[in-house]
Amino acid sequence: MCKYFFQKKFDQYFLKDKNIAKKIVKCLSFKNYDTVVEIGPGLGILTRYLLTPYHKVLLIEIDKALIFFLKKFLEIPRDQIIHGDFLKWNPEEINLQNFAVIGNFPYNISSKILFHILKYYKYIPECIGMFQKEVAKRIVSPKGNKTYGILSVLVQTFYDVKYLFTVNKHVFYPIPNVQSAVIYLKRKKIKKNLNKNLLFQCVKVAFNQRRKILKNSLHNFIKKNTIPYEYEIPFLNKRAEQLSVIDFIQLTKEIEKRK
Ligand code: SAM
Repeated sequence: MCKYFFQKKFDQYFLKDKNIAKKIVKCLSFKNYDTVVEIGPGLGILTRYLLTPYHKVLLIEIDKALIFFLKKFLEIPRDQIIHGDFLKWNPEEINLQNFAVIGNFPYNISSKILFHILKYYKYIPECIGMFQKEVAKRIVSPKGNKTYGILSVLVQTFYDVKYLFTVNKHVFYPIPNVQSAVIYLKRKKIKKNLNKNLLFQCVKVAFNQRRKILKNSLHNFIKKNTIPYEYEIPFLNKRAEQLSVIDFIQLTKEIEKRK
């Protein structure tokens, strides 16, 4: 593999194992959408298995040198490659409203990638991605687990999550310092009456002050003239980690009602 390609700033660890690449791609259902967006295709090890006559592939890669490589060696048409930052990409600009997401994600921005996916979740019915193992565990973590936190609640509000398998660091070049894991997200029924912004804010504030009970950490969200609000609104005497995803949704709705 050519040394020229490695850019530390883009968190480039290239998967070498074709069987793992195939296994990841196979986890997509390819049902009810006709486009698959790959984040950070790199040298195209996943991309090769995505290229079928039945689906359009759209690649978003930040490193220009890799764009050149993908066009030349994988013969990907120009209009199927975007040279840019996924975190700044807006699918609405190209009128893309139903697509799957796949990627062996750059680990340094993997949480941001997830938040970007959540921003457009109504267009994204499924997603499969490789994460640092520790982050993958946090995403799928249930209530009561010590890794349960902001990522777990927010991702699980919109997606059913599944930890698929752990990936040994020796199947990458260069070898990263951490283990990896692949997880699968399948969108839940779209939540119509949920104030997504409010949910995000409440969950973030609640977990950022996780030792406080919610009555104290969320006091800015609660209208004081609804006293005794701690009796009206459920869960306020609990701490963030004691609430399930469903509890957080209910809490958000209760707060929203009284705004
Ligand atoms: N998919 C390839 C593989 O499995 O071998 C490469 C994976 S490598 C861990 C991450 C890839 O994401 C690199 O190609 C890197 O250049 C690209 N990347 C990093 N930051 C990005 C961003 N903000 N937007 C799009 N691509 C990015």
